[in-house]
Amino acid sequence: MSMRKSNESKNGRQSHPYTGKVAVLSTKHEKLPLIGPPLERTVGMHVEAITVDTDSLGTFSGDIPRLGSPLETAIAKAHLGMSATGNSIGIASEGSIGPDPQIPFVNADLEVVVLVDGVAGIVISEVFSSRDIMAAETTSQSGNDLEQFLFEADFPSHQMIVRPNSGEMRPIYKGIANVDELNTAISSCAPVSTDGLAYIGTDLRAHACPSRQKIIVSAAERLAVRVASLCPACGIPGWGRVDILFGIPCAWCGTPVAKPRAEINACVVCDHRETRQIVSEKVVADPATCPECNP
Ligand SMILES: [Zn+2]
Ligand SMILES: [Zn+2]
Repeated sequence: MSMRKSNESKNGRQSHPYTGKVAVLSTKHEKLPLIGPPLERTVGMHVEAITVDTDSLGTFSGDIPRLGSPLETAIAKAHLGMSATGNSIGIASEGSIGPDPQIPFVNADLEVVVLVDGVAGIVISEVFSSRDIMAAETTSQSGNDLEQFLFEADFPSHQMIVRPNSGEMRPIYKGIANVDELNTAISSCAPVSTDGLAYIGTDLRAHACPSRQKIIVSAAERLAVRVASLCPACGIPGWGRVDILFGIPCAWCGTPVAKPRAEINACVVCDHRETRQIVSEKVVADPATCPECNP
């Protein structure tokens, strides 16, 4: 955070409706140090962790499948914490890690963070996506040399889970952070797998996966900026970008080229919207990028 930014947030602090309010963060996996500080810095909320069994909404290791979209799951988690405490503002996050839609074989982590305000009846959400996620996996029999895999998987800084590779997914060992535990888990899982192999993969729960923690922080920082922004018409928090307009005219023929020219900001409650140019209206596109001039 630059000095200028922290001064700006100080100025906003007097008038923001959440200053001094308590928000409960539903987390089983120690996300408070990741998500609390950005909201405390920008609007002066007090974020407190509430331990709720968010695993009932699905787990990373796949032993409990997840039903809703990541956004729906995050909102459901926030509601769990709100009903457990009676607090009217809840916060939660939800990640999904899998092959990048643009680059197969490369993993990406999409983190959603939400703030639910039960009194105002609003949900403010933000996402952050990154390919800088460690999500290694392999299979092994007992006694195999895993040194190279573990090095590439950044073990034990990134912890592991072990389960049988096929058949029943039990037993399952999570949060493995040393080689002895890892070997014990492999010896117990490989023989009960129908193919005789143990599955070994990065434990993607936030407290076990430092590369994921960084992505959650980035999502929380975006959420804090959006929460801090008040609708210019009604003053409700959560003002921010909802859409991007594409189409910059080609310098030669005027055909719209698919490049961002403006963003639409909107309120989460009222109908107020504003279009903000992100490039000057005088800007024209390079004909080399034009679908007519350079098909
Ligand atoms: Zn053109
Ligand atoms: Zn509004």
